Amino acid sequence: MRIQLLPSTIDENGRASARQHMLTLVIDDRVTIDAGSLAFACTDTQRENIRDIVLTHTHLDHIAGLPMFIDDLFATLTEPIRIHATRVMIDILEKHIFNWSIYPSFSELSNDKGRVMEYVEYERGAAFKAAHLSFQSVAVKHDVEANGYIVSDGEMSIAITGDTGRTDEFWQVCNKTDDLRAVFVECAFPDELGGLANISCHLTPSTLKSDLEKFHNADCPVYVINLKPVYRETVIKQLTDANIPRVQVLDVGNVYEL
Ligand SMILES: [Zn+2]
Repeated sequence: MRIQLLPSTIDENGRASARQHMLTLVIDDRVTIDAGSLAFACTDTQRENIRDIVLTHTHLDHIAGLPMFIDDLFATLTEPIRIHATRVMIDILEKHIFNWSIYPSFSELSNDKGRVMEYVEYERGAAFKAAHLSFQSVAVKHDVEANGYIVSDGEMSIAITGDTGRTDEFWQVCNKTDDLRAVFVECAFPDELGGLANISCHLTPSTLKSDLEKFHNADCPVYVINLKPVYRETVIKQLTDANIPRVQVLDVGNVYEL
């Protein structure tokens, strides 16, 4: 399985920066989890091949690149872009994004080959397919409805929390997944903003460390993502000082072959 966290921003030299404002995790250049920077940072190959987008939740940093991705492809699509989401997420997207005021309601539109976007609804906690991958959704704790996932290509699995505060169910499902090769976990805020992290349902290095005590697979690497850019260096230092086994920060833009 090939995993890439797309960049969100450019540095002063015009190159991709590690500052991660938005989340888009691309799997095998075909499927993405969330679409924060999808339209802005994907390769031409990814633009040609990605037709399935699985959402963890509807916060803007996870969907900002979705309308422009469909806009880019509108005239050339030979099949719709499929948005895999719960009814709650779909209703939010329709009400607040694809509402003809913020952007066109692409689910109502077609090009000369057919529809350009369709929702593929799943029940929270259910399993479903997206392209060649199987997804098991797991409810996590955030301030809107949000799901983590176990993702399998038939040979191995990965897990991703999406945005979450401390959670039990996600780790229970990880513990039951025998072929788990990697876990991608958020850690948005530094420890001194623990109050804000609690209110907004995010993790800090301390709460991540204690949450990981629920995860019993000692061999499975844990990659940290979703570090708020302004606190990135502080969070990395605190994660290093915490010396949590298995944990490393995922490099933005790098392709990981698992
Ligand atoms: Zn969020």
